[in-house]
Amino acid sequence: MYIKWLEIYGFKSFCEKTRIEFQKGITAIVGPNGCGKSNITDAIRWALGEQSLKLLRASKLEDLIFAGTEKRRSQGFAEVSIYFDNSDGKLPIDFEEVVITRRLFRSGESEFFINKTACRLKDIYELFLDSGLGKDGYSIISQGRVDEIINARPFERYKIFEEACGITKYKYRKEEAERKLKNTHENILRLQDVIFELK
Ligand code: ATP
Repeated sequence: MYIKWLEIYGFKSFCEKTRIEFQKGITAIVGPNGCGKSNITDAIRWALGEQSLKLLRASKLEDLIFAGTEKRRSQGFAEVSIYFDNSDGKLPIDFEEVVITRRLFRSGESEFFINKTACRLKDIYELFLDSGLGKDGYSIISQGRVDEIINARPFERYKIFEEACGITKYKYRKEEAERKLKNTHENILRLQDVIFELK
């Protein structure tokens, strides 16, 4: 599985629809300071479901939408699509090409899509669990992250290893199952109360 290309529209410094193609292997993005190199990784993080404005280097949601310049009007929404080659089937979905899209409007309203079908953020999170690429994955190492990992507390470092080993998915499913079990137990108690009152 690898990223084939990226389509960015209205996200941060990308005013016009921009398509960035990646080949298998190493791609280096070079350019002068402030030209938007890091905005590309921000776009990837964001489309993968990142919620932390700090990690996206923004102070408010609107900072993610192209703010306009002297010559160009601001945009009303931001949209990022990542096209994955999934011919090796690493993503648990029955398609050789997988596209995930995230859209944000100035009103704060957000939309998510998997292969152009509207979905929830949770669906994107689950799709990338243990792929190493999800929001909590370790494949995006930003400036300062290496220091953070070295200085991390044992438990934080343990979580990085857990994701790398592919355990996170099972822990997540276990927590989901426990939550459902708790809800069912509460519903049973409520039903017992109703039955008791009716008797
Ligand atoms: P460096 O090499 O210094 O790390 P870089 O190439 O990684 O820089 P970025 O940090 O990706 O550059 O981009 C910074 C640019 O993006 C700045 O010029 C900033 O004005 C612009 N920018 C960020 N958010 C927006 C926005 N919402 N609207 C318009 N431009 C934006």
